[in-house]
Amino acid sequence: MELTGSCFCRRLAYKLELDSPDDARTSVCHCKNCKKAFGTTYGLTSKVAKDAFKYTKGTPKEFKDEASGVTREFCDHCGSYILEYGEQVQQSFRYICVGSLDDPEALPPKGEFFCKSRASWMPEIPNVFHKQEIKE
Ligand SMILES: [Zn+2]
Ligand SMILES: [Zn+2]
Repeated sequence: MELTGSCFCRRLAYKLELDSPDDARTSVCHCKNCKKAFGTTYGLTSKVAKDAFKYTKGTPKEFKDEASGVTREFCDHCGSYILEYGEQVQQSFRYICVGSLDDPEALPPKGEFFCKSRASWMPEIPNVFHKQEIKE
């Protein structure tokens, strides 16, 4: 399957090539870093092999958080956040922001991380794994 995505203004576009939806692990993360980075009360990313992801248009701006070692890529024109990755998985994985996909429902969530920091009003997603902390 091939999925496509972009930032809001479409100066950045990408494609994602997967053998099956199981090659992507979509998860919600309630940690404080995700709250700030996404500007909402949780992050929603899909973990895919680095080689499955390719920009087809534009070059992203990068921001590396030295404290966590996480690099985030986003559009320097409209600000849409496209993906992130930690130092340890730099050569192997990318965490794609699910809302940047042209079909955000293509890769439904398989689990939730940092449930201990879940917003008090936000219900659990049923029938997925729930971890109190670590995003692997
Ligand atoms: Zn943009
Ligand atoms: Zn997080």
